[in-house]
Formats: sequence, C-alpha cells, structure tokens
Amino acid sequence: MNFLDRFRYKYDDLNELGIVKNINHDKKNYNNQNLRNLLSSSVKVSKNLFPKIDKSINNVFQRLGINNNFNFFITANHIETQAACAMMPQSPNAEIIITSRMIELLNSEELESVIAHEVSHFYYQHSLYPSIDKARNRTEYLNFLHLSRAAEISSDRAGLLGSGDIENSLRAMLKISTGLPDEHISFNFSSYLDQLRELRQLKGNQNLLYSTHPTFLNRMQALIWFSMSNEYNEYFKTNKKGTYDLKTIDDKINESIKKVTGNELDVSNKEIINKALLWGSLSIYLADKKFSKEEQNKFEKRFGEKTTVSIKSLLSISKMSVIEKRVEEAFKEAEILMKSDKEKIKIILNEIFSESDNHNEDAKKELSQLILRLNI
Ligand SMILES: [Zn+2]
Repeated sequence: MNFLDRFRYKYDDLNELGIVKNINHDKKNYNNQNLRNLLSSSVKVSKNLFPKIDKSINNVFQRLGINNNFNFFITANHIETQAACAMMPQSPNAEIIITSRMIELLNSEELESVIAHEVSHFYYQHSLYPSIDKARNRTEYLNFLHLSRAAEISSDRAGLLGSGDIENSLRAMLKISTGLPDEHISFNFSSYLDQLRELRQLKGNQNLLYSTHPTFLNRMQALIWFSMSNEYNEYFKTNKKGTYDLKTIDDKINESIKKVTGNELDVSNKEIINKALLWGSLSIYLADKKFSKEEQNKFEKRFGEKTTVSIKSLLSISKMSVIEKRVEEAFKEAEILMKSDKEKIKIILNEIFSESDNHNEDAKKELSQLILRLNI
C-alpha cells in the first residue's frame, strides 16, 4: 500500500458507486489517438529539451514512490493556467498536459505540487468516476459532482506530498487562482481564507454546487487542516502532535465544502432515504397483512404522528397494490443513492425488521427483497 492510499480523502471513494479499483493494469486500453494528437500539437517533455521541468517530474515520482508511466507535454497557452491528466479508465499509461502559462507562473517546487496533483488523478483512478452527464436524475448528478470535488481534495494532498512542503502547494494555489506572479503577492494565506468566512456568511454560492472543483478557498483550507492532522505530523516528523485525527479532519472538510455549496444535496438525499425507510418499513410490517397497534406505535415513533395518521387513512382506502407501487417507486429512487446512504437504509431496515411483531418468513423475505432492490 502506497502512502497515497493512507492519505486519500475519505469522501473520495470509488466504492460509493460500487467501483472497485483494479490495480492490475494488464488490461490494455490505451488511448493512442490521444497520444498521437499530443505528439503533433504539443511538445513532449524530455531532459534534453526542458531540464528544469524534467527535474521537477523526477522529484515528484521519487517522493511518491510510484512508476513514471507518463508522457508529459507542454502546450502553448498564454492565457490559461492549467494542467490536466488525460487517461482512459484502467489504462496503464497517461498523458499530463501543462500549459505554458502554468510553467511561467510557478517556480520548480510549486510546479512539483501541480505535477503530483495530476499524477495522483491517475494513481487514484479518478477517471473511473462516471461523467456527470451519465447521471440518471438531479440527485445523482449532484452526488457525482460532490464526488468529483472530493477527488480534487485527495489530489491536492498528493500535490503536497509530491512537492514535500505545504508551502509549495499553497503558493501554487494562490498564484493559480489570482494568475499573478510572486512580486505581487505577500503569501499571507490566512488573510485569503478570511474570504471563505465572508462567503460562508453570505450562505455560500449556489453555483459552487454545480462545480466539478471545490473553490480554491476550500482547497487551501483543506490542505491547512490536513497539516493539522496527527497522521500528517507523524509522516513529516514535525515533532508536533496534530490537533485531530485524519478522519475528523476529513469530516470537517466535507462540512466546510457543503457550507459554501448549500445544503440542497443533503436535503434531497435525506428525502429519498426517508421515503425508502417509510415505505420499506410499511412493507415489512404489512408482510403478515396486519398493521398491529404495537407496530403503529413504533412507526409513529420513527416517522411522527402526522405521517402515521395519513398512512393509516391511506391504508384504509387503498388496495395492497397501491402500497406496493409506492414501495417500488421509493426504492427505485433510493437505488440511485451513493453506497454509504444505501448502507444506512439497510441498517435501519434491519432494525425495523427486528422490531416488527413476528419475524415470520414473509417479513424476512420482504426485507431481503427490499435490500436487494437497493443494489448495494
Ligand atoms: Zn485535479
């Protein structure tokens, strides 16, 4: 296990979509056309042509302890400060393209943080995340975007680890986000982060909910918090103890990102979870064709009086097929949720089952069918 796995941001989790990273790169799925295009339009980095850039690249691979299966290209673009990693899922190789503007703006150490960031997109196999236009509904679309932002947090950490110093990463970020060279910036990172407080006070910016990258404010804050973790201090042998463990830091970062993107995603996920639980529990309770007084009380405790009253009146006027249809709809929606949310539903449904009157075969069958529908 490479240390990049240990420091991977908790919410950047391919498993949320049931994707298992295949570390066996035997499957050759190499996009030659991409390489052909780059060879004809950009300039490949070699020691002879760009010794300084080449040195930075080597430093990064040495620090990260991974093989250099990459082709690096410089492309003429004096406007955009960009770097990108072009890769096919599960491919053994990748191309990293850096704009000339990026090279001009950053010093060698800062560039190392950018190179390591891009290399880690390949290492973490982020291209396995489905593209957002594959989302089947709005909630899934927002969940995909949330994952995409989480991927950037992991890669920023790799940027830090690959350049060996947090200062390099923070400087690079401030330069990229302003587009300005050193002479204009006094690298006082905490004053930049005051802007995050201001943005939060204004309840964030809804547009950030639709962004594939977190704002640089969140990204810099995430790195600074990362440097406060026990794990970071241990790794860099700072002789200091961190303030939090990495798991806690990851939760803080997740909350901070959500504060500026707004809580729409949380709300819509929660709505779908609750609906699945409500109709799921009903179908477990009704497996024996009875909704006993005791079950009604338990239902009310979980879902409230108002919901219980309206469900009871629905039950008194509806055929079982109507209820079944509602269960089906609720689970169709829930199937699209991320894995951790589906696990949550599974756990609570199991609890509900163990609370139900008689744990007969029908109820058990109902429970396992509901869990099957979640497609975890
Ligand atoms: Zn990135």
